[in-house]
Amino acid sequence: MLLDLDLGSAGHQQERASPTSAIVTALRSAYMAEGGWADADWSTVIALAHLQGAGLTLEAGGRVLLQVAPVPKPSKAVSFPVEVNGRPVGTAVVARSASGLLPAEVGLRTKLAEGIALSALLAAALAVSFALLASRWLVAPLHRLTVAVTRYGAGDRSSRAGVTDRSDEIGELGQAFDTMAAELERQDYLRKALVADVAHELRTPLAVLRAQIDAVSLGIADFSMETLRSLSEETDRLTRFVDDLAVLAAADATGLRLERQQVDLAQVAGAAAARLASRFAERSVSLDLDLERAPVLADPGRLEQVVVNLLTNAEKFSPEGAVVRLRVSHQRTCAVLVVSDNGPGIQEAEQQRIFDRFYRGVSASGGQRVPGSGVGLAVVSEIVAAHGGTIDLESAPSKGSTFTLRLPSAA
Ligand code: ADP
Repeated sequence: MLLDLDLGSAGHQQERASPTSAIVTALRSAYMAEGGWADADWSTVIALAHLQGAGLTLEAGGRVLLQVAPVPKPSKAVSFPVEVNGRPVGTAVVARSASGLLPAEVGLRTKLAEGIALSALLAAALAVSFALLASRWLVAPLHRLTVAVTRYGAGDRSSRAGVTDRSDEIGELGQAFDTMAAELERQDYLRKALVADVAHELRTPLAVLRAQIDAVSLGIADFSMETLRSLSEETDRLTRFVDDLAVLAAADATGLRLERQQVDLAQVAGAAAARLASRFAERSVSLDLDLERAPVLADPGRLEQVVVNLLTNAEKFSPEGAVVRLRVSHQRTCAVLVVSDNGPGIQEAEQQRIFDRFYRGVSASGGQRVPGSGVGLAVVSEIVAAHGGTIDLESAPSKGSTFTLRLPSAA
């Protein structure tokens, strides 16, 4: 019931406030004020009914005394007796909307429903925008990476993902790809440069050999000891270069196989110096030897290759008339070989790289790339490592270079 009120009990009982009770109370007051319905003032009752949007019909003695429209449709009408001093004086029929809600409540409910729908719409739009943004954020760098990988696969060695603005896993993946691509590009460049360098390194001695053989066979030059020595030197140069390449190839394939035996490092150094004597003499570079017995368990052929490469460089970078020093000594647990020159020296930035394969410096020749293949010191480093030794460099621009080789002593 909309009304939980005993209207006939003249206010002795508790009334639960409701819109209908207010209308019925107003009717009773109107009756009591005039002592009947005849001159009753309906204004308060009508205002209340209007305010509540309710329809009201007052009947008394079988007649309709008051009718307040509109009655909401669909509606629900409820009758209430109007009693004054325990005596029924009429019946009020109050009609309301079927839901039992007042128009204001209906409006509020409609507004609430609209508000909820609008909020849901806004939330959905926000969720969709966020999802779009998140997927762009996730997918964009992956897309860049895919494009870079595809282009790289199609042969573009300069292709990079360039995902530099991310520090998460996707960023790491992009950077890892770029690092790998840069390294592969460098290897690619070195491979191409190697072919050119090898061709260049082979061309010079072969051209000299060809020219001398032609000169002798055409009778332009006599076949003298001098010619023979020159032919032998060029052949040596070719042999050294091919030996160097063979060491690198073997180190890559199965690791260097050494034929170790007890040898004196001083003897090996002496043999290498003798092999290069005429080369030093040609450029008036003297070789100062100080060789002390230093037994090691080593492959003499490979060890000689190390000394030859170090001495060749020392001679190559020494000015005419300079002195190159070759020392061998025996220290407590190791045999030590030192090659020092008074050449242009090597800048600190280059010192880390000169043992890399095919690396040719610039500092030693004043800005130009140094002639050569850049394999000599890489070979030295491989052979020394295979013997369990170390090689150190001490050098500074215009102060010369000193290479120090240490091998475990066999004494
Ligand atoms: P290569 O086989 O062409 O001689 P290396 O591997 O022996 O090459 O040497 C690499 C680079 O190290 C050279 O191009 C040069 O820049 C530098 N280098 C090596 N030895 C010396 C030295 N004694 N003095 C100055 N620079 C040197």
